[in-house]
Amino acid sequence: MDGLSKRFSTILESGRQSHAYIIEGGSPEARREAALELASMLLCQNRDRSTNRPCGLCTGCKKMAQGLHPDLVTVSPHKGMIRIDAIKEVVAQLKFPPLEAQSRAILIFDADRMNPDAANTLLKTLEEPPKGNCFFLVVSSQGSLLSTIRSRCQVLTLHTHKCSLYEMEKDGDQRFLELLEELELEEPGPEKLQWALETRGRLLEALALYHLEGKRAKAVSTALSLSKEISKDKDLFGLLFFILKTLARDTLAIISGGDREDVVDLLINHASATLLGHIAQSLDEEEVIQHLLRLEKLENMTRRGINLEYASNSILLFWFSEHE
Ligand SMILES: [Zn+2]
Repeated sequence: MDGLSKRFSTILESGRQSHAYIIEGGSPEARREAALELASMLLCQNRDRSTNRPCGLCTGCKKMAQGLHPDLVTVSPHKGMIRIDAIKEVVAQLKFPPLEAQSRAILIFDADRMNPDAANTLLKTLEEPPKGNCFFLVVSSQGSLLSTIRSRCQVLTLHTHKCSLYEMEKDGDQRFLELLEELELEEPGPEKLQWALETRGRLLEALALYHLEGKRAKAVSTALSLSKEISKDKDLFGLLFFILKTLARDTLAIISGGDREDVVDLLINHASATLLGHIAQSLDEEEVIQHLLRLEKLENMTRRGINLEYASNSILLFWFSEHE
């Protein structure tokens, strides 16, 4: 559970709920996600008693997931600006109590794009908010809002530390990064995590070229130049082993899972299930286990100083060849 939902949960618990929040910090996607998550917490009819997380199953959650909840109101800039009409339209709805949930959630994305008229109209509402409404003003930084608006809101800050990496990636990558953090002896810095993601991305792209698009020559040359780059840095080189182990482990899961569809949920490299499924078709368990053993062996050898480029070429090529 991320920090922001936790803090919001504490607020809900304490009963000292505000009627307006500013969500700031993080990437635009992360802010958006956080705002929707907090709105879900408000609109769920059966949220978890200890964490206050939305249940995901009730009608409130279902409607929210479909973007159809009548008590969810969203405003975004139109042609770069939020104009007074858009805010007036929201204010008009507030006269009525929420239709289905205890509280209506009003999300104003890029709230700093409100023009002065719009901002003043909103301010009037924030000064005397009708009951049963909760505003979330989503901005990169609270400093971009009028101080009069700021003083009416509670500020929730998304921390970019470490999370920024997760935020910019799809959720499937989180599993990969978390595992990496668990396995590494020293805590990997953000650059190392970034590098691991990038390298894995390039590798998966090359694999897709090879196995899905049949552009084999191009794929192999991409892999070899990646290998050359990787072998320049001993530290980063170790990450290649980690990446390949996750691929091998996923492939094994697919092979032994047979036709089970839920195997996908187990994959570390979740988002590449199709590609890995394709690769798994031409491999058997024994081959993958041999590859894993070879990875272990080479990893030990690199500590004794064998040529890194040779080592990475030889392990990478396992993935770029025909196993019939
Ligand atoms: Zn629910």
